[in-house]
Formats: sequence, C-alpha cells, structure tokens
Amino acid sequence: MSELATQNITYLPGVGPKKAELLKQELKVISYEDLLFYFPYKYVDRSKFYQIREVKATQAYIQVRGKFTSLSTVGSGRNSRLTATFTDGTGVLELVWFKGHKYIKEGLDANAEYIVFGKPSSFGGKINIVHPEMEKFNEADNKIKSPLQAFYNTTEKMKKGFLNSKAIQKLQQNIFASFAGKIPETLPAKIIQHYKFMHLHEALQVIHFPNNTETLEKARFRLKFEELFYIQLNILKLRNQRNSKIKGYPFLKVGHHLNTFYKEKLPFELTNAQKRVIKEIRADLGLEHQMNRLLQGDVGSGKTLVALMVMLIALDNNFQACLMAPTEILAAQHFETINSMLDDLGINCALLTGSSKKKERQKIDEDLQSGELQILIGTHALLEDKVQFKNLGLVVIDEQHRFGVAQRAKLWKKNDNPPHVLVMTATPIPRTLAMTIYGDLDVSVINELPPGRKPIETAHYFHNRRNNLNKFILGELQKGRQVYVVYPLIEESEKMDFKNLAEGFEYMQRVFPDYKVTMVHGKMKPAEKDAAMAEFSSGRAHILVSTTVIEVGVNVPNASVMVIESAERFGLSQLHQLRGRVGRGADQSFCILMTGYKLAEDTRKRMSIMTETTDGFEIAEADLKLRGPGDLEGTQQSGLPFSLKIANLGKDGQILQFARQVAEAILSDDPLLEKQDNFLLKKQLNKLAREKMNWSMIS
Ligand code: ADP
Ligand code: MG
Repeated sequence: MSELATQNITYLPGVGPKKAELLKQELKVISYEDLLFYFPYKYVDRSKFYQIREVKATQAYIQVRGKFTSLSTVGSGRNSRLTATFTDGTGVLELVWFKGHKYIKEGLDANAEYIVFGKPSSFGGKINIVHPEMEKFNEADNKIKSPLQAFYNTTEKMKKGFLNSKAIQKLQQNIFASFAGKIPETLPAKIIQHYKFMHLHEALQVIHFPNNTETLEKARFRLKFEELFYIQLNILKLRNQRNSKIKGYPFLKVGHHLNTFYKEKLPFELTNAQKRVIKEIRADLGLEHQMNRLLQGDVGSGKTLVALMVMLIALDNNFQACLMAPTEILAAQHFETINSMLDDLGINCALLTGSSKKKERQKIDEDLQSGELQILIGTHALLEDKVQFKNLGLVVIDEQHRFGVAQRAKLWKKNDNPPHVLVMTATPIPRTLAMTIYGDLDVSVINELPPGRKPIETAHYFHNRRNNLNKFILGELQKGRQVYVVYPLIEESEKMDFKNLAEGFEYMQRVFPDYKVTMVHGKMKPAEKDAAMAEFSSGRAHILVSTTVIEVGVNVPNASVMVIESAERFGLSQLHQLRGRVGRGADQSFCILMTGYKLAEDTRKRMSIMTETTDGFEIAEADLKLRGPGDLEGTQQSGLPFSLKIANLGKDGQILQFARQVAEAILSDDPLLEKQDNFLLKKQLNKLAREKMNWSMIS
C-alpha cells in the first residue's frame, strides 16, 4: 500500500477527530487502508423496483417508486409517531417514523416522485416500512449509482455518531476520490496473470461499489484468495524453516518392545485405520526431521492404543516418552489402561499429576533423570521445569485443544533436540480449519471405529417427557447398564448451575431409590473426584450425575445412556464429545438431549443435527457453518489467532485448497522466499506479521 493508504483516517474528508475516534473504538479502523478493508456484509439490488401490491412483510429489503398521499402524526410527545401513506398506483404502503418528524415533514414534496427503500414488516394487518430510506426520483441520478448497494455492519454508538452504513459508504467513496493513482498491488504480477485475478485496486472498488454480481464475485474471489493465500504461505514457510533448522531424532528401529507387545499383548485386532495411521507415523519418525503430527479420530476410535504403540517405538530406540492429558481423571485413566495393557513386559511407567505425593514425585524425578523411567503419563504437571528427562524422544498430547500453544512450546525445551510431537484430538476439526490452524502439522486420521460398535441412538426430549425418560432409564438400569446425567456449568451462572446439579443429584436418588447415584464436579477435591469416578467405573454406582468434567476421554464401556440436561446450552462439538462417553461397549447405547420447549432457531438446528448423525466430521462441519470459526469450540484456546475479513472457513474450502496449492508451488521452488522474484511475497508476509502479532504462533 502506498503511504496514502496507511495515512490516518482523521485526514479523510468527512471524518474529523470525533468520527475517527469512533471508527477506531468500534471497528479498529485507524488508517485509510483499514477502512478499505472493512467490507460490506451484504448487498441489496437497487436496480429492481417492486410494485407495492407484490410487497410482502416477509421480504428482505425492497425498493418502490411512487408519491406520498397523506401524512399524519399519531400520539404526542415522546411516544408520537409520524405515518405517511405512499402509493405507486398498484397499492398503498404505510411508512412510519418514530424520530425526526420535523425534519421529514418539512423536507417532503407532495408533488414529487420518490424512491422508498427499506425492510417491510406487518403491523395491524397492514404492511409498513419503519424508518425507510427515501430520495427524490431522478432518472439521470439513478443511472450513475451502483445498482448493488453495499451494507456495512455498524454499532449503536456509531449510528448515534452519524456513522451508519450509508455514511461508511460515503467515506469509501472519499477514499477512492483521494487516490489519484492506483492502490498498489499486493499479489505478484505472475500470479495475477496466471490465474487472471482482478487487480487489487479494481477488486476493492468493486467490493464497495459493485456494478453487477458477476464482477462482484470476481472481486470477492480475489480478496478471499489473497487472505487465505498469505495465511497458507506463512504457515508453510514456517514449516520449511523449522524443518531446515531443527534436526529430529530418527527412530529407525522397531524392536523388542513393540514386537512383543504386538505379538503377545494386543487385546484385539487393529482396525485398518489404526494400522494405516501407525504406518504413517512410523514413516515420519524415521526421517531426519522432528515429527509434528496431528492425529484426528472420532471419540472411541482407539487413539490410546495408537499412542501406546508409538511410545513403544520411542522406547525401542532408547528414548523416553510421555503422554499428557488435560485432566487428572483422564491422566489416571490413561495410566491404568496403558499399565494394564503393558502387563508384565517390564516397562517402567509412572503417573504424575498435581496431586502426586511428594515422595512419589521425588522417585519419579530421580528415575526420569537416570532414564530408568521409560513412560511418564500425566497432566500439566509434566510441564513444570523441575520435570527433567534423561532423553525424551516423544511427546503425545491427548485432547490437544486444552493446551495452549505456549504450553506446548515448553515441552520442546525438555531436550536438546525437540522431541517428536503427536497431538491427538477427538474434536474432529473440519479440514479447512485444520489447514489453517494446524496448517504446518501433518495430519493422520482414524476414520473407522472398532468393529461391532452400534451407532448411538439420539433423541431430543422436551422437559414434559421427563416421566418417559425415567421409565427408559429404569429399563436400562434393570438390564444392568449404567447412566450418565450431565449438567452444564459455565462460569457466569456458576451458582445456579451448582444448584441445578445438586438438585439433579437428589432427584435421581429419589426417583431411583434402588440404585446408587454418585456425583462429580470440578470443584471437588481430586481425591473425592477420583473416588466418585472409581465408584462409577467399577460399577458400584449406577448413575453418575456430573458437570462436563467427563467430557473428554472417560471410558466406562458398560454405560449405555447419556442424558444431557439443558442441552440447549451446549455447543455441537461439546454435545458430540459428551455423547461419545457412551457407545463404547457392545450394547446399544442412547443419548437423550433434554431441553426446554422454547428454542432459538439455531438451537433447534443443533438438536436436529445431533439426532441425525453420529459422524464427528459432519458435526464439526455443521458447527463451523452454524457458528463460524471464531466461536468453534476447541479452537478458542489454541484459537484462530487472527480474524478473517472476507473468507469464511465454513464456505470457502475450495478457495482455501487452491490457495494452499499455489503457496505450495511457490515454496517448493523457493522454500524460504529468498529469491528476488518473491520479494513482494516476503514483504507482504512481514507486513502481516507486524500487524497480526500472533501470526507466527499458529502452529
Ligand atoms: P479414543 O480414540 O476416544 O481415545 P480409546 O482409545 O479410548 O478411544 O478407545 C475406545 C475403546 O475402544 C477402548 O475401550 C479400547 O480398548 C477400544 N479399542 C481400541 N482399538 C480397538 C480395536 N482395534 N478393536 C476393538 N476395540 C478397540
Ligand atoms: Mg481418548
């Protein structure tokens, strides 16, 4: 961008200090360029005029042409409103104003023809438009104007400060007027030519003042491409940098530990997907570079076993391995599972959490440093500086979204050469998002569940069917199965939620007096929590009432019913995670979503997606579409560290794919963008890195 573009918005004709402050506070718009990249959120076709008799209250924005026939004030003082009747000969429309009566009354010309524009609604059986936009009709005028009118999001504060959508558009016009020349191009000429992209100057002009939908689409395509392209170029270049700088430890041997385990201890046949994934990981581990791999697999797909087998490869190459889980419950469970699978193989494995006793800790610390301890399983406690390994070769991170990027980086420092990293997640991440957030990680996917699993049946009940629910639960209990009941817990309403949870617990005790009910929530001491969990997983307790602490990983195959209370308060991927706690054994399992009767439109959609599919990827895609990546669970912490201005990861998957290919092609010829040819690309990346402080933190 030229200097003009980076100029402070205060200098733009029509702005001034007050509006500049508003733009900064409300939209983070500081420079001309920021405003140019503040894109419309929709367009309305202003070339089309409706006949008033066709207008329906359900329509979006409409435009009609006609004359005023009457004007009257109804009521008085603050509550008064001004109404006008307006006709084009085919019908009559009522126009209503609650503010600015005087200004409107004095400005109206009863003889002139007007264009009226606004959103119709219905009131008292009549169709009206509240606070319409209007202007005198003038053929000549009308022709010059862009037929597709851009609409910009604005806030209440902005509107009060006279910065409505129309005012923003006027400012955009002023920007273009002040550029004598062109806005400098930000994509290399060879890319523009090769893919016949619209130039930046034109694309920006079109996005704000489109002439027709065709050129608008071209402009949007170019801007979306550019946005996604630079993100991909950045991630892929970082990967190249890392691979050239960091040498990994090649794990060349598959030896005693893995072979013995495979032959003697493997409790079941691996699924084909598990086999494929282990192969992919082995190939990666044998190379000279550090492995950074994301292992995606739906709940219950058997990631733990894969993790264990990969850890055994590390051991076979005389390295230590560790497995980190987000909660104590999970860490303990992993420890038990893995320990019992290893059985008598003579492998030294320990558990380290925040509640490990001082003495245990000391022993662990010593054995880690001497190399005696081969596998360490634990929570965040593993990250502490005093946890020192002799030669850590592999880190497995389970349910990764609970760990921030900075925490992950800490693990790297636990050795001279960073260990190989395998990140496992059961929150299926849509491809587009994975390519963007974890774009530099290699990805392996377990897309198959172990055989014999029956898909979970899901139903959505309103509260008035609680008796049916109880009957159903009783039936399952009588068959010897166990039941989860989950309550939401969010910080804002913590007190209320605890009340609900406690009441739910008592209620279940009352309704099922012959069965043992237990409760788990995050505020309990770890020991209490463990005791309650142990009661449930051993089968001594039949019903577990809990908050979402059981969301990830917990494995009780005999549990066949998951009841989710106030399901409307959970996001899709969380619902899916919770549902994944059942369906782990051979029995038919059920998930029941309990909600109130009144539901918002998108809540209703969430419930119906849940009852229609159990495919985690499908659910993740739907989630992305419903909520947008900013809100997507599991990405909040590791988060999209930037916001997208025009591209939409839910909808622009193909453009993303294309942008990635273009970036890959450029980098395969010039991995670190050192050639003169690619100077502009490097410059743009540096500029974006300066603006988006977190950019380099993506991986
Ligand atoms: P997740 O991917 O959700 O972490 P787990 O690793 O907890 O899944 O595995 C879920 C269940 O499936 C466990 O009880 C595990 O023992 C079992 N399992 C894993 N792999 C297989 C397999 N190949 N065949 C049969 N059962 C398996
Ligand atoms: Mg797991």
